[in-house]
Amino acid sequence: MRSAAFTELVGPEGVSIVDEPTPEPGRGEAVVDVEACAINRHDLWILEGDSAMVDTGDLPFVSGLDVAGVVSAVADDVTDIEPGDRVLLCPNETCGVCRFCREGPENLCEQFSLYHGGLAESAVVAADRLVALPDGVDATTAAALPTAYMTAYHMLRRAEVEAGDLVFVPGVTGGVGVAGVQLAEILGSRTVGTSSSAAKLEEIETLGLDYAVEGTDPDEIRTAVEAIGTPDAVLNHLGGPYTGLGLNLLRRGGRMVVCGRTAGGRSEIDIPDLFLGHKRVIGSTMGTQQDLERLVGLVADGSLSPEIHATYPLEATGEAFAAMQAGDHVGKLVVTN
Ligand SMILES: [Zn+2]
Repeated sequence: MRSAAFTELVGPEGVSIVDEPTPEPGRGEAVVDVEACAINRHDLWILEGDSAMVDTGDLPFVSGLDVAGVVSAVADDVTDIEPGDRVLLCPNETCGVCRFCREGPENLCEQFSLYHGGLAESAVVAADRLVALPDGVDATTAAALPTAYMTAYHMLRRAEVEAGDLVFVPGVTGGVGVAGVQLAEILGSRTVGTSSSAAKLEEIETLGLDYAVEGTDPDEIRTAVEAIGTPDAVLNHLGGPYTGLGLNLLRRGGRMVVCGRTAGGRSEIDIPDLFLGHKRVIGSTMGTQQDLERLVGLVADGSLSPEIHATYPLEATGEAFAAMQAGDHVGKLVVTN
């Protein structure tokens, strides 16, 4: 079987098609014929050599978390799924025995890590991480869900967003931002999002963004958002200067959930504003398998249509990463077989 492996950590040129033996399932595992695998910033950071998780000693490395396809084989001890089942992988890897695995939520697991290996024709996965796909949900659509939509959904839950709330999403054109806008609309809340690109903001307005603010300067954004309203919640995947901005804009008792550091791994916050305003800053990574099952349900009943910008054949995986690096798009990039 072929895979689109990272053979050098130099960016999109570092992707090569390599041939490997078709994998066999070990205990508790299933082999999935991959029909679609969405790519994420997480993969690109690895490919650019900007991830502590993978270094040149790990090459060739097959990335890809968001796998959808058809089960081709299962181990003898796997009884709840069988070859021919259409499935979506929840990429969470957990120990199963720590306090958080027992009491939940599972994404707090002390050993939490992520599956990698979907950028290939076949993937060996933990069978109990497979979510069944209803007939109406195709593999490409499903593959868009795990990382971006599951993360955004979990953030909205952590932020306790309710109908009528105003949700501030700085950097709304990223995967989590777009997902946050679409899911906030399903919850009946309103969104204000920012981007440096007027064209991309227009596109996201068609997906449900209520208020668009063009710009990247925190002070200009502050003025523009204050003219719109006072956010009840902030979805922050940027970090950097946008953490202080988000906290400052929040209403008294408001919640900001942080899931990323695209704009910087360090932020300065106004401590009196935090405690005198009874505000909350909440860290969040990924979501739970139950979140993902709910998202599949929302797609199946027609409530959610994940935004997909383009699909690429496996041999064009490098082009998909080049498109992500260029950042001219809105929506998921999906590699298909
Ligand atoms: Zn655990």
